[in-house]
Amino acid sequence: MARSLIFCLLFLATHASLALLYPFTLSRLLIAGSIYLAGTLLMLYLLFHPRNQWLVANRSRVDGGRCVALTFDDGPDPVDTPKLLDLLRAKGVKATFFVVGKRADQHPEIVRRAWAEGHLIANHTWSHYSLFCFLPPARLRREIERGTESVRRSCGVRPRLFRSPVGLRHPLLGPYLKDAGLEYVSWTIRTRDTLTGDSGVIARRILDRAASGDIILLHDRLPGGTHAMLEALPRVIDELREREFQFVLAGPREDSGVATPEPAAYETAH
Ligand SMILES: [Zn+2]
Repeated sequence: MARSLIFCLLFLATHASLALLYPFTLSRLLIAGSIYLAGTLLMLYLLFHPRNQWLVANRSRVDGGRCVALTFDDGPDPVDTPKLLDLLRAKGVKATFFVVGKRADQHPEIVRRAWAEGHLIANHTWSHYSLFCFLPPARLRREIERGTESVRRSCGVRPRLFRSPVGLRHPLLGPYLKDAGLEYVSWTIRTRDTLTGDSGVIARRILDRAASGDIILLHDRLPGGTHAMLEALPRVIDELREREFQFVLAGPREDSGVATPEPAAYETAH
């Protein structure tokens, strides 16, 4: 909470620097402009850099020797997520899904299936609000809580991991995640699969950089579809296996303290 307060003071001090403009002189303009620019750049770094630790403690690697974690954000998608689950099942790979709560509520059977097949389900907020870092405090807390409740409704477990939309931070995110019992998980490899439809580019971005402990960011729901990611993935999995990488979850499933849903729940997913 102390860092949240310091950030608020930084915000106030940055804007208060504009008072130096009165009475206006060129030197005052330079001083106020410099303070305002420096304060704004620092705040943007703290809010937008996906791996900075200052506002929100976060983890961007997995332990366990020669392994990587595949993570999929923004789903579930009624078409692409089942295709991805088929692919992962065929390859015998477990992954972590950061689901959007309201989409999980629309397609709970897909989330249930992912959990039943051994994947990890995590909280990616309720609505995936794009200006996440500017949310009012009450709305921020609701986004976190409703995301958690949606996962619990879908597959019977409370998620333990959280990732915000686009990795954005918020001055109050750290204390609110602590209250909610959630750990922030970032990434080390960003495939930028949201910006390219070229499966070769996505595969190269992973294969050129993959190292032990990497968390790889992909998406199982995109406005234009995820065909490029689905096309790249078999090659990525095969090549990483040839290099003796194992695929692990981004966190433990056992921590949920809730048993895997009964087979009957799994059947309803098909
Ligand atoms: Zn997202």
